[in-house]
Amino acid sequence: MKCELCEREVTRLTAHHLIPKQAVKRKQADSGPTVDICSACHRQIHRLFDNKHLAKELNSVEALKNEPQMAKFLAWVRKQKPDKRVQVH
Ligand SMILES: [Zn+2]
Ligand SMILES: [Zn+2]
Repeated sequence: MKCELCEREVTRLTAHHLIPKQAVKRKQADSGPTVDICSACHRQIHRLFDNKHLAKELNSVEALKNEPQMAKFLAWVRKQKPDKRVQVH
């Protein structure tokens, strides 16, 4: 499996909701678009941005990849071993 953000091969991916459920009023059944990303990317996203910002500005993979802070993180995380549980700061 490949993380859609850092593009590393990892054993487990997590689904990130591009438009966090808390940010918009939507029906329960409709969970919205998701991307499959590794836990390191996922933790970093939610550490850097709140749900409102994610829903408004970073609601696509491209937007996330181009965001300067994420781009910096992705460049760094690509050099890390996929199996290692990376410590994000
Ligand atoms: Zn990743
Ligand atoms: Zn998420």
